[in-house]
Amino acid sequence: MLAENYRVIAAHVAPARVMPILKANAYGHGLVDVARVVERLGAPAIGVAYLEEGLRLRQHGIRLPVLVLGGILGSQIPRFLEHDLTLTASSVDKLRAVDEHAAALGRTATVHLKVDTGMERIGIHWYTAEKLLEASLRCRHVRVEGIFTHFASADAPDLSHARLQLERFHEVLRFYEQRSVPTPLRHAANSGAILTMPDSYLDLVRPGILFYGVRPSAEVPATLPVRQALSWITRVVFFKVVKAGNPVSYGCTWVAPADTRVVTLPVGYGDGYARAMSGRAEVAIGGKRYPVVGRICMDQIMIAIGRDSAYNGDEVVLLGRQGDATISIEEMAGWAGTITHEILTSINTRVPRVYRGTT
Ligand SMILES: *Cc1c(COP(=O)(O)O)cnc(C)c1O
Repeated sequence: MLAENYRVIAAHVAPARVMPILKANAYGHGLVDVARVVERLGAPAIGVAYLEEGLRLRQHGIRLPVLVLGGILGSQIPRFLEHDLTLTASSVDKLRAVDEHAAALGRTATVHLKVDTGMERIGIHWYTAEKLLEASLRCRHVRVEGIFTHFASADAPDLSHARLQLERFHEVLRFYEQRSVPTPLRHAANSGAILTMPDSYLDLVRPGILFYGVRPSAEVPATLPVRQALSWITRVVFFKVVKAGNPVSYGCTWVAPADTRVVTLPVGYGDGYARAMSGRAEVAIGGKRYPVVGRICMDQIMIAIGRDSAYNGDEVVLLGRQGDATISIEEMAGWAGTITHEILTSINTRVPRVYRGTT
């Protein structure tokens, strides 16, 4: 599924290329395993957020270029250089520090310049960016491979801020033409922009959530046929009948209205199944949806199945499809009062990942 999603996005954005974003354990899908898929697909590079994520990829033998998108501390720079990880230079000072470390180590650092065009997170402001671009031409131990910006609201119905950001980015990029210097690889588009702003594709796009087959928000049209790659599955571990009038779980918030069959599942907020979904979430058993009743515990949840049957060992779908029942990540995000990104990145490492036909 990830491979198909990659191909769908790549065909849509061509001639721009696709750099999948694998931060936060590849949006919960498993950093190293997903990186291996991406490597086989011939992607030009991988994007992550932190140095530690890049180091983990190198430790596991991933050779692709890895761009660390986040801010860096001076003390981290030598490790970027030792492991051939690409740095984000978000200010003149940081760029100089990279140049100095590279000189001292006798290496050439590969960097992407980060321009803030209206997100106010990291990066040099578009109105002073010329200083960073100028400085980069003078660094002798730095190769500026790319230059990028990030949209604050490319997945909103109103794209005016995103359009303004793109205009500002183009203004900054004029620097290269004016000096007749080759322009580095330009990139801006996240998943929202891939779906809504074709003129933002430039040389490289950076899909995160869309690569995993999920829309960035309910407000953007599902214009690309990507498919949800992840299912979250557990099994029934306990069956009982709860007598009418008896409460279930911590706080006794749910009381059986009649004698009700209830099964227990070994999953809870300690796995990333958000406690805030108590009283709202549903799961699929035998192709049918049933409610989670009572509070979600750290390691267990209870499901009321009425008069239906379920047996120990029966497969239960928390996310994904089972027969006619589908539980989407968007629906779960609604129950938890959050966005799809957070649902995926919350499924923690206690939950074993199983990979099926990903290429
Ligand atoms: C997380 C991130 C992305 C991917 O965002 P999605 O909305 O998941 O596509 C792209 N670029 C940067 C700089 C990011 O931090």
